[in-house]
Amino acid sequence: MTWFKRQSGYLDPSGEKKVRTEGLWVKCDNCRQIIWKKDLEENLNVCPKCGRHFRVDAHTRLTQLFDDAQYERFSDKLVSTDPLKFLDLKPYSERLQRAQQETGLNDAVINARGKLNARPIIISAMEYNFIGGSMGAVVGEMITRAIELALESGEPLVIVSASGGARMMEGVLSLMQLAKIAAALARLDEARVPYISVLTDPTTGGVTASFAMLGDLNIAEPGALIGFAGPRVIEQTIRQKLPAGFQRSEFLLEHGMLDAVVHRRELKPYIARALDFMAASRSPKPIEAGLVSN
Ligand SMILES: [Zn+2]
Repeated sequence: MTWFKRQSGYLDPSGEKKVRTEGLWVKCDNCRQIIWKKDLEENLNVCPKCGRHFRVDAHTRLTQLFDDAQYERFSDKLVSTDPLKFLDLKPYSERLQRAQQETGLNDAVINARGKLNARPIIISAMEYNFIGGSMGAVVGEMITRAIELALESGEPLVIVSASGGARMMEGVLSLMQLAKIAAALARLDEARVPYISVLTDPTTGGVTASFAMLGDLNIAEPGALIGFAGPRVIEQTIRQKLPAGFQRSEFLLEHGMLDAVVHRRELKPYIARALDFMAASRSPKPIEAGLVSN
């Protein structure tokens, strides 16, 4: 009887010892450091070495913003009907089905209601993993419904964008959402209900061209790609080389397109402070009252 038996093909000819580390470690694409995934998650998915903000899905985003990670979803039964029966490399209906299976969502946004620092609030968070966070009729309608609920309840609204823009598979129906949402936001503005837009990596195309830039405050995470057209298209159009850092949040802040660039750790307290400030300025005539008593 043999104690050990050598299996043929068992030894790796390269002589390297392979260890299964898949899923445990992540390489930061900015500083190239290897980070333990758990460390990254505990740091809100921000690289502990260099501060690179990794993308987070809509659900994670909502758990980071709401008190005790508790929120209630609404208007999440809407599903795209593939109105144009669109076909590119594969049918749009197939893409939809796949995205639905992978994300567990019906479309690229979650509408949620809950509390942020004890204040009732409505947050719509876009899901980039659902066909690039693109905005078709369902996303447009869900965001409109979130705005309408804010209008009805008077609760402030936050929209967290992460999107490649309008969804080309729904053609003009996607583009119509820009006008529809902008009109709803105008009503919210008239009613003086606060709306804060949070732009995360990436926010581009029709989403930048509509609600992402229409906030009472437009704030972004560090290093986020924000723009309308891609840099190559712009270079070809204006026939000029674009400056370094073009279309990143810091560049946009410097050029007056944003109100603030806020670290993910500071995002929740920042929103809370901003809403406190807005609520104070909405209370009935505080300044006049003060003047009279003096
Ligand atoms: Zn890093």
